[in-house]
This record gives sequence, structure tokens and C-alpha cells, in this order.
Amino acid sequence: MITLVADIGGTRIKMGITKDQTLLAQRSIEARSHEGLEPQLPRIAAAFASMCAEAGIQYADCCALGVAFPSVIELETGRVLTTFGKYLDAPQLDLPRWAREAFQLPLVMENDARVAQLGEWQAGAGRGCDDFVMVTLGTGLGTSALMGGQLVRGTHGQAGIFGGHITVRQGGRPCICGNRGCAEAEASTAVLPMIAREHRDFPSSGLRSLDVIDYAAVFRLARDHDVCAVALRAHSIEVWSALIVSLIHVFDPERVIIGGGIMSGAADCIADLARSVRARAHTPWGHVEIAPALLGDAAALIGAEFLVREKRAPSRQ
Ligand SMILES: [Zn+2]
Repeated sequence: MITLVADIGGTRIKMGITKDQTLLAQRSIEARSHEGLEPQLPRIAAAFASMCAEAGIQYADCCALGVAFPSVIELETGRVLTTFGKYLDAPQLDLPRWAREAFQLPLVMENDARVAQLGEWQAGAGRGCDDFVMVTLGTGLGTSALMGGQLVRGTHGQAGIFGGHITVRQGGRPCICGNRGCAEAEASTAVLPMIAREHRDFPSSGLRSLDVIDYAAVFRLARDHDVCAVALRAHSIEVWSALIVSLIHVFDPERVIIGGGIMSGAADCIADLARSVRARAHTPWGHVEIAPALLGDAAALIGAEFLVREKRAPSRQ
């Protein structure tokens, strides 16, 4: 089964061609999410066209287009139900029609954290584990839960995926979801520059001279004992562990897998996070395993292939 797969993120749009959980080809383009999704569709189609030409694959060889998208998706129709400050035009677009016209393929689409979880479940850190929670730490905070080998979806498709909007500080920072003090509003790549600049030690921090304030910079400077970076790192681990403890209390998982751009190359943070979670979670039977994701960007692409398989999209072969 050959599948076209895409992970439409806020920073990059990643695309691939998969066959039996193997990526035959992979490509990524800049997201330009502030422009909306419609202007990106021809760029996505062009990237797939050139990738398929290079790989010697026709669209007629493929069974579907599987897409991971950062929102709530109506699984049966592929309709985007809401937006979170990215691709604001997405709910108005007929994406299944676009997929039919551009590729002559059915579209299967799902929330990106869920799709990444499917990828880690099938081929990464979740293999052999049917009860685990996935947390992706990045521009926003994504979560997803698998219980008894089934994704938790809920009546309206939003169960399990709003972990980033669990309140960790009552009356805290306003969040794009309308709430205050959500984990995502307190510690994510999107809010990090603002939180850094408000910190009392920012004027004397190495962060002040940087064009881009991201977690890679915070973790690097924290290792050099930069006072502001050390405080931001500790604050963020505090927020993420509060979020993970809540997810453990809700879903009773065997394992929590941490993925997303923030944690790549930050093994020391995973260890600190696990220690903080262990100290707080009520798990009288033992401890939930906290493990790093293994597939990186490929998780959502491999997961999108599984999603297509799970949905049993009509085969063209
Ligand atoms: Zn929120």
C-alpha cells in the first residue's frame, strides 16, 4: 500500500510517500501558516508532484492522502472544526475536494498529536504498548491518548487532544483557546519569548542578544548557568510536569511518550521531567514510564499511513 502523507505544522509542512511503514521519500517546505491554508495547497501539490516524479510513483499507484493537522478534525468528513491561531481559513475549505482534484485520491485527516501517537505506537517508542499518552512539546502543546489499543476521540473528536489546555495556573496568562493559565499559555515555544522578556533577569541574560529565543537556546544557556535561562527551564519543566501528572490521573497510562521539537536533543530535560512527575503523580501501584519519542518528524508521516489503513480508505489498486 503506497500512501501520500503530510504533516501540516505551524512552522514546517512535512510530506512523504510511505509503503508498509517505510518512508520512500520525504520533503518539507516552509509553512507560512499566517497566510492561511488555501495559498499553501498549490505548494503542497507541487511538492508531492515533484517527489512522486523523482520516486517514479504515479498518484494512481497510491491509495489515499493521509494528513496530520493541528486542530480538531471531523474524522468522517475531513472537515477542520476549529483553529488555534494557525491556518485561520481551514474550516471554510473543502479539503477532500482539493485532494480529489489535485491527486485523484481520498483524503483521511486527523489531529496531528493523534497521528504522531499512531506513528510512535506502530513503529516507535509506543510499540507493544496499548495504553499510553503522547505529549508533543512545540509551538503549541499537543496531547493524545490511546486506551486499550484505541485512540480516545470522544463524542466531538476532541477528547484527549486538549491536554495543552489543562489549567496549570488559575488566573494565569490568557490562552488562544479563551481560557487562562493553560499549560500551552504558560510554557510553549509560542509564548517563550514573551515569558523570557518579562523575567527580571532577562536584561543580564545571554537570551537578550539573540534574534530568536527558543528552547534550544534556553537549554544551552541554562547548562552555562545563565540565571534567566535556568529559571525559564525550571518553570517550563514545572508546567509540563503538572500537565503530565493531570494526564496520568485522567488516563491511567502505562507510559507517557514525550515528542515535539522542544525535546529533541534535550535528554537531560526528559530526566528532570520524569523526576518531577514521579514526585507528584498518584500511582500507588508503581511509576508511569516517561520515555522520549523515537521517530521525530517521521512519527506523524508513519502515523498518517496507519490512519489511512485504519480508516480503510477505498483502495485504488
Ligand atoms: Zn488554552
